[in-house]
Amino acid sequence: MLVYRLTESTAMDPNGTTAADLFKNASHGLTYNDFILMPDTIDFAPAEVDLTTRLTRDITLKRPLVSSPMDTVTEHRMAIALALCGGIGIIHYNCSVAEQVDEVRKVRRFENGFILDPVVLSPEHTVADVDRIKREQGFSGIPITADGKPRGKLVGIVTNRDIDFETDRSRKLKEVMSKDLVTAPKGVSLNDANDILRKTKKGKLPVVDKNGNLVALTSRRDLLKNRDFPDATKDAGKQLMVGAAISTRPEDRERLEALVEAGAGVFVIDSAQGDSTFQHETIRYIKKKHPEVQVIGGNVVTPKQAENLIKCGADGLRIGMGPGSICTTQEVTAVGRAQGTAVYFTAQTAKKHGVPVIADGGISVTGQIVKALALGASAVMCGSLFAGTEESPGEYFYRDGVRLKAYRGMASLEAMKAGGGKRYFTENSDHVKVAQGVSGYVVDRGTMFSLVAYLSQGIRLGLQDLGIRSIKNLHERLYSGELRFELRSPSAQREGGVHDLHSYTEPDVAGGKRK
Ligand code: IMP
Repeated sequence: MLVYRLTESTAMDPNGTTAADLFKNASHGLTYNDFILMPDTIDFAPAEVDLTTRLTRDITLKRPLVSSPMDTVTEHRMAIALALCGGIGIIHYNCSVAEQVDEVRKVRRFENGFILDPVVLSPEHTVADVDRIKREQGFSGIPITADGKPRGKLVGIVTNRDIDFETDRSRKLKEVMSKDLVTAPKGVSLNDANDILRKTKKGKLPVVDKNGNLVALTSRRDLLKNRDFPDATKDAGKQLMVGAAISTRPEDRERLEALVEAGAGVFVIDSAQGDSTFQHETIRYIKKKHPEVQVIGGNVVTPKQAENLIKCGADGLRIGMGPGSICTTQEVTAVGRAQGTAVYFTAQTAKKHGVPVIADGGISVTGQIVKALALGASAVMCGSLFAGTEESPGEYFYRDGVRLKAYRGMASLEAMKAGGGKRYFTENSDHVKVAQGVSGYVVDRGTMFSLVAYLSQGIRLGLQDLGIRSIKNLHERLYSGELRFELRSPSAQREGGVHDLHSYTEPDVAGGKRK
């Protein structure tokens, strides 16, 4: 139940109130749902809205979107797709140093149109193995290498044509694979690869080095759907950028070195309560040792905490304690803050130091992204929203006819068992594990490419309704007081949603249903 303090300053302004007054007069923390933005004059099309923003002091993004460092959200496929679309992915660290480094390397090595780590089989595998891969991953053209390893010597290829009519699914691939291989040499350009595929009428084109070892695979389908990504997040060397999460634990110093070496350009110090002396020390250490990389500190929710991390050298801040869809922190610890309030006050403080903030958690619809940006955030970080896409780790499965993927909090018991307790200072108390997150499922949301296009258009429509052409201008109007807000009563919130229908079809959010 909302409570309003009825003082003179809350006398309602017919055109809405400033953010400063909204928060000054609210008698409690505000979530995104608790307020709404007032429209202003439109004199431009949505396509003209510029979504360029800052992730950190030195990193600019074309889309204000970051994927959470969670083991059901961000590995290389997510980070590649999001960077191509103009956002950035943060690779989780619920794995060995070698595995996290490998994920970072895959993003850094990515070349548009070429699959650098294709799924391969050996001549000793069977047709049934191809069936399984097809079922689980949707691939159908599989290179066969002598040792069954991705960089092994290429000896054949199995496509649908080789096995469609095969009645004995236990036959070995060496008996059915095509051996008349058309290959392209390492370093081939996309154009040349395209030409070869056109001339030979093949569906797949393996790329091999001078010793005949497989280095990449490209396909007719990849080339057809391959397009330019003008908004991609790239560094000066034209490689996709990627972030990596680390903890404040001393042994993660080695992780840091290996990840810097692998090309991670930004580090997120992953902690539920980031204002600790461990984190202060870690930020100072990284900024001194590697001034060339950017450090995002967090999570914090008060200006005091924000100041503390900025003083230590943080280049960006991650805001949120409790709003995550899988999060039980506020219930377990009684500590946290309503996300709207947390974003507004920390962003206001960080701005004085030129440090951008990322609103982390609790985003399920585009309107919430617009609101986070309107409160001063430069980007949003999403877990559940991205976890149902094709590019997140894990397989789809059906339950009650709905296509789902697993999504779990990094402080859920399941994730902690796999090593995720680092975020919550629980690593030394294995005998008592207190979860601060749950494990659940999210619906299929199609590919990141369609989801990001959908989200971007939703954000543009929001800014257009506000009469604002860019995120930069949105922030200028926030702080000048021109951007106007209004509190929403519980009934105003109900009125703003779908109501009074016998039934309706939920809007399709780029492949997935709205929550
Ligand atoms: P979502 O986008 O609402 O699903 O929230 C994702 C965010 O929740 C992440 O970026 C983290 O900040 C936070 N988070 C991840 N795992 C946990 C957990 O187990 N407990 C509490 N918060 C979590």
